[in-house]
Amino acid sequence: MPENIRRILKQSGKIVFITGLGSVVECGGRDLWESNLFYDIEKKYRMCPEDLLSAGEYSSRKERFYSFYKKEVISYLPKPDESYSIIKKIEDEGRLESVVSLNIFGLEKLAGIEKVNEVVGSVYDNYCPGCLKTFDVDYLLSSPGIPVCDKCKKSLRPNIRLLGERVDNQLYTKAAISCSKADTIVVLGCDLGSTKLQYITGHYKKKNLILLTNESKFGDKYADYVLYGNIKDNMKLITK
Ligand SMILES: [Zn+2]
Repeated sequence: MPENIRRILKQSGKIVFITGLGSVVECGGRDLWESNLFYDIEKKYRMCPEDLLSAGEYSSRKERFYSFYKKEVISYLPKPDESYSIIKKIEDEGRLESVVSLNIFGLEKLAGIEKVNEVVGSVYDNYCPGCLKTFDVDYLLSSPGIPVCDKCKKSLRPNIRLLGERVDNQLYTKAAISCSKADTIVVLGCDLGSTKLQYITGHYKKKNLILLTNESKFGDKYADYVLYGNIKDNMKLITK
């Protein structure tokens, strides 16, 4: 099967990549939903990661939100691996339609990829809701307690989508349009059965939806091709 996929990719001039949690973990990031870590977090904060990263928590218990966010999320920033250098190379060849990033860790931009749609936001974008000044992630990490704007002293907001907030329809629509234009879609470590993915890939009518994943899920059946195992190794294999 890698032979077929390699041929498909070689002939594709409009490729969309969709990057998710499976790839983040391979890049050294943490999966807060992995059972041991999930349990530790619940024990430590008396709440599950979803609730700790929710809009309600951010608006009413900012102190605890930031204590969790700084210690458990942005203290473990993954670095893009070879999968992302391969995507960058495809962009340089003019064959990248876009990358739809379903992770908050800005891996694509760190790898120098320009055509990226960060539909769930990025931990690297933080702003002051008062004056809109932007702040980098180190500013947040070095602020004691709740990070505040150095100009107007308002609490800063990480530009990531929190649970319970409306999705950014414009970004999702843009992602769905990219997919509908693609010859080939390569999905790295996402659950194709999730509502998000169903929406994003819903208008793709060709038969080259390729999933690279190291964990089998019910939604895998929506892919035309699935390669199980290390995502980066499979990326190398199919783009050789
Ligand atoms: Zn401000």
